Amino acid sequence: MDGARTGLSEIVPLGDEQRERVRARLRAGHGACPACGSEDLGIGDALFLGFAFLSEPADAYMVGLTCPNPSCPVTYTGIRLRASEFLDQ
Ligand SMILES: [Zn+2]
Repeated sequence: MDGARTGLSEIVPLGDEQRERVRARLRAGHGACPACGSEDLGIGDALFLGFAFLSEPADAYMVGLTCPNPSCPVTYTGIRLRASEFLDQ
């Protein structure tokens, strides 16, 4: 993906196929709302983390998630994924 490593942190909009990969990771047990446990999370954009946090793998991203449960106190959450887990290489 062009420009994915040009900054300390960068928002990467995801396409349909990439969102499906994230959804597959969520289904595999990596993601549910930490507050209400909903697994029907909306998938937003990815934030490149790799060079911002030394404890992260160099290709780590945080993918924004939104909880659809209107009574849930946590509207926004996220899942950490590596580029190879959801981005085109
Ligand atoms: Zn929730």
